[in-house]
Amino acid sequence: MSTDIKPKAFEGEYPVSQKFWNYWPQMYKTNGGHHNGTDFAVPTGTPLLAIFDGWVSRIERWQLTGYGRMVVIRSADGRYEALYGHMSEIDDRLKPGDNVSLGQKIGKSGNSGQSTGAHLHLSVWKDGALMDPQMFLNQPALFREAEGVTIRPTRHRVVSGDTLSGLARAYLGSSARWPEIFAANADILKEPGTIRVGQELRIPDVLKTDTVEPETVKHTVARGETLSSIAQRYLGSAARWLEIYETNKMIVTNPSLIMAGMVLTIIIK
Ligand SMILES: [Zn+2]
Repeated sequence: MSTDIKPKAFEGEYPVSQKFWNYWPQMYKTNGGHHNGTDFAVPTGTPLLAIFDGWVSRIERWQLTGYGRMVVIRSADGRYEALYGHMSEIDDRLKPGDNVSLGQKIGKSGNSGQSTGAHLHLSVWKDGALMDPQMFLNQPALFREAEGVTIRPTRHRVVSGDTLSGLARAYLGSSARWPEIFAANADILKEPGTIRVGQELRIPDVLKTDTVEPETVKHTVARGETLSSIAQRYLGSAARWLEIYETNKMIVTNPSLIMAGMVLTIIIK
């Protein structure tokens, strides 16, 4: 099998949501509590593609546990095996023993089986041993770091649960810096404890020059908020929603559906 071809396991570009060999014993009961594959945050219905020429070695169309609907393919040289888990649909015509070719659509991604949200779980074995699927794939790596400068918001509309120290943590990197926000809004705030939902606060544009240790913030979700909007607010980029999702996976079952009142843990770094 040619090693210069870097295949894709799905159409489009989506980030990794759980890396290979992540240690999470409450979740992963085998492999000593390690994740035996890579999870990609692929929405339901995304076409899944064969990552090598070979044949179908196993199909589970109605499995409700574990990987749910799944397809396993083996490479033509017999050395590699790939398991696609949590699918929503499997190509009707596909049956065990059928040939598949690199890039062929085998079905669609989903959220079947034991899964806490739509994603593709992909495991790859080489000569019977698990390997990191990303070593093998031409898929985008982790979420992209914001390029260039971070634009710090200069205004903040107060939502329920906000406090000056929380805003200081979010915008200025340290809760101890709340007096700076208070001072910048002295015309509308009488006392530090009196911020009200809907108020527009000025956020002083103070550059952080020192390195700040990751800080943990509890955020109570307000109506209308999304992981992206929360990421924008605390982490400076909507694209960093995945970090918040990762931290709160035990309570957020579907990243596109967060509910008001939910308390999220946000690690600011
Ligand atoms: Zn997985």
